[in-house]
Amino acid sequence: MTSAIVNTYTRLPVNFARGEGVWLFDESGKRYLDALSGIAVCALGHVHPAVTKAINEQASKLIHTSNLYGIPVQEKLASALVEKCDMDSVFFCNSGAEANEAAIKVARAYGHGRGVDAPAIIVMQGAFHGRTLATLSATASHKVHAGFEPLVSGFVRVAYGDHEAVEAVARTSNDVVAVLVEPILGEGGVIIPPQGYLRELRAICDEHQWLLMFDEIQTGMGRTGKWFAHQHEDIVPDVMTLAKSLGNGVPIGACLVGGMAKQVLAPGMHGSTFGGNPLASAAALAVVNTIADEKLVEHAAAMGERLQQGLRQGLAGINSVREVRGKGLMVAVEMAHPCGELVATALERGLLINVTAEQVLRLLPPIIISEEEVDELVDGLCKLVRDWSAGVAE
Ligand code: PLP
Repeated sequence: MTSAIVNTYTRLPVNFARGEGVWLFDESGKRYLDALSGIAVCALGHVHPAVTKAINEQASKLIHTSNLYGIPVQEKLASALVEKCDMDSVFFCNSGAEANEAAIKVARAYGHGRGVDAPAIIVMQGAFHGRTLATLSATASHKVHAGFEPLVSGFVRVAYGDHEAVEAVARTSNDVVAVLVEPILGEGGVIIPPQGYLRELRAICDEHQWLLMFDEIQTGMGRTGKWFAHQHEDIVPDVMTLAKSLGNGVPIGACLVGGMAKQVLAPGMHGSTFGGNPLASAAALAVVNTIADEKLVEHAAAMGERLQQGLRQGLAGINSVREVRGKGLMVAVEMAHPCGELVATALERGLLINVTAEQVLRLLPPIIISEEEVDELVDGLCKLVRDWSAGVAE
């Protein structure tokens, strides 16, 4: 059948009809354990009752008014978020790329405020920040760039996890005004930087009065066992971007500012028609409150431990498995060979996973996952990898 949808996605052969918790059900009723959460979006699982209730109640009162008028529920959401991370205020938008666009604009405006004519932002090898022109330019993928050149200028790329590479730029450039970094590389292969790296970046940014900007679009909202992944190093950034699980499936993004970025944006400098509208804000407020009330940050840490331990045990001795790593419920199994075909095999077996960076099996299950469901995921994944490895030259 021909499709009227622009051909930008290679889709797997399944249509889901409904979801409940960590489970998705296709049109024939077959159930799938969702270990991907719509790419780190449905952290509270599918159709969480608190989020559904908030959406229903808000939809029956008021959906949209625009940011020309006051939006009390957006105010509440902003207060709840800044309280969780010691930041000052929030600009709301609709997606991760838009949140990073806002961060990039904050950095450039901050630079101009300091008299830098062509402000530059340090970004990382392996980074993924989105598909708009500025964010794809900040992204470190030729595949993402290809066909869309010229790229937006003003980005300086260095190795991830290497604070000395950032210091080296400081010695040679007068244009840098900010560092934009994922606390853990997501699309880049679930790469966890060395302990102390983010803290070193904080110190370098303080020394040079650069903005430290964390892209927590994939790592935020409890996934790694802290509200935000940078909190593992007990530091506070100047800018933080969120999206994905902020609305548990209702599109919403956020760019939080504090520290040196606090007063940078002024009326008229940035805007969004939809950003933080009553419906999206109500959903996100329900998400924040549910994560807090149900102690899901701690739960993600405990379930992540169980998942990683289970995988380490279950995959021990398989030569084609290079490493099991992760933080909280952001977990990867790195294979010694490209393993993209595992996604389709897993789907056939009722398991939703993802492969990134060609040979990294990525697991981002809902953070509400129970012990039994973790164990089921471990069993299914270990069997999948064992069977696949038996057919692969080691
Ligand atoms: N930043 C990170 C770290 C991401 O993982 C993603 C999406 O995968 C984005 C930004 C872009 O978000 P969106 O697809 O909502 O624009």
